[in-house]
Amino acid sequence: MGTYSNLETVLPETSLSEVLRKFGRSHVSALPVVDNSGKLLDVYAKYDVMNLAANKTYGMSTKTVHQALLERSELQWTEEVCTCDLDDQLSTVLEIIMKSDVHRVIVLSEERVVGMVSLSDILSFLVLNSGDTSKDKRREEQGVVEDGPYYEPGSPLPHGETAV
Ligand code: AMP
Repeated sequence: MGTYSNLETVLPETSLSEVLRKFGRSHVSALPVVDNSGKLLDVYAKYDVMNLAANKTYGMSTKTVHQALLERSELQWTEEVCTCDLDDQLSTVLEIIMKSDVHRVIVLSEERVVGMVSLSDILSFLVLNSGDTSKDKRREEQGVVEDGPYYEPGSPLPHGETAV
């Protein structure tokens, strides 16, 4: 679960105008801040940009991520940065998100950022896995055991007959 390719990250020296461009282009809500070797340093979120704007911090376009992070820590906006290991179980990730009340968990492998699991990934997973089990139950009650396609009673079958 989550995203493991085309990860959008930034370096501390990335300008905030580039951050804004990335947010505009990719529609993700946060960017891991990494060093040149891909090690996680922090996370810069859309929410942080909003706070900068709301606090009327001028000169946004000339700032770097590093400066913005310093200002954020002075103003104590920081959301905890939570990480998990690539080999962790889904239940561990869910527990981290629930306990820390964060929007995302950064997936690391040998300390390097390799993926992101966000609340939207969990929601999609839950929606995709909460399929209608009533059909399966009905089939079970009818003693249907074969693995072929299921047709609702009354619906047309491929050879012109009607399913019962
Ligand atoms: P979010 O913006 O956190 O709601 O996540 C939306 C989707 O984008 C999810 O599938 C995330 O896994 C993915 N995602 C979140 N952050 C990033 C990022 N920095 N780079 C690439 N994908 C991301």
